[in-house]
Amino acid sequence: MATARIVISEFLWEEGLAELNHRTQVTYDRTLHGDRARLRREVATAKALIVRNQTIVDDELLRLGPELRVVGRLGVGLDNIDLRAAYDRGIEVVYAPEANAVSVAEYTIGAAIALCRKLVQAHLHAAAGGWDRLRFRGLELTGKIAGIIGLGRIGELVARRLRAFGLRLLAFDPRIAEADLSVVENGIRLVSWKDLFAQSDLITLHVPLTPETANLVGRTELGWMKPTAFLINTSRGGVLDEEALHEALTEQRIGGAALDVRRHEPPSPPAADPDFSRFDNVLLTPHIAGLTEEADVKVTRTVLRDVQRVLRGDAPRFPASGELLTFPRPAKTNGG
Ligand code: NAD
Repeated sequence: MATARIVISEFLWEEGLAELNHRTQVTYDRTLHGDRARLRREVATAKALIVRNQTIVDDELLRLGPELRVVGRLGVGLDNIDLRAAYDRGIEVVYAPEANAVSVAEYTIGAAIALCRKLVQAHLHAAAGGWDRLRFRGLELTGKIAGIIGLGRIGELVARRLRAFGLRLLAFDPRIAEADLSVVENGIRLVSWKDLFAQSDLITLHVPLTPETANLVGRTELGWMKPTAFLINTSRGGVLDEEALHEALTEQRIGGAALDVRRHEPPSPPAADPDFSRFDNVLLTPHIAGLTEEADVKVTRTVLRDVQRVLRGDAPRFPASGELLTFPRPAKTNGG
């Protein structure tokens, strides 16, 4: 069997590379995603391309890889990959749909508590020698109402954890029905788009970025929120209208927000992106919700194994083909 060349353009769990079979020749450069000209040259002779979320895998790049058999996505969120173009060219796309879901769910709980208890600001205050306890009087999660947008793999894990904290749960997801186990077992009430925003104390986003979900949460939705409610976005920056959020925070129309993902990553405020750093009720993190040691090992193993399966001519365990389905946008119509 001939040697298969694998190009990896972003970081992964490096020890995992030792598990590749000896017929594999690997080009691993975690900065390659930023050098488009070199990436094009590398892809020209590759059988597999492995990326995270920074490498734009469009039709133009795929066209330059005549030997490409498979693209591996280290994680979930396939918005940087033109799935249709890949399948039209007979290139398999594999991903790791379950590997970092727990990490994102745990991050979401952490962000919820950090917002309710003003943990980051309290830390900065105490570290600077301050001791103003009253300024940091917080809120309990117990007894509050959480609204989950997107009750898929991550949304359900978030639901289970929030339930354990004593919150009442609402959800909106056009693919989920009242009788689904995720709804029944977690005591979730499926509500209209508008009610989810109007009734929740904490709203958390877990939808993929697709043409249908771009700017899904905008000025109208933020306008429905309670003035004390928090919004957490670990999905994709493009799902949220960042300008509208900035406006709502400036006018103190919502309680605060946690943003792990941004429309542009990294963002470049104030020229291209709104500057959220001046708000003390906003928690900003650099797309780390799914990034833990445990998740990185699982993600890397899952993708490397599937890439090798495809190169051997076997079926992958986690093909991304199902994600070609897109969703209508009922959100804007059934909420009233
Ligand atoms: P999933 O496919 O299991 O679930 C997504 C859910 O969203 C589905 O149930 C779907 O029906 C629902 N949905 C689609 N369109 C909707 C709409 N208009 N309104 C309401 N619900 C809608 O995906 P997942 O594994 O739970 O991941 C969700 C997203 O989280 C990923 O697509 C990715 O963008 C993001 N993510 C981020 C990180 C991070 O580090 N921040 C890590 C992993 C995943």
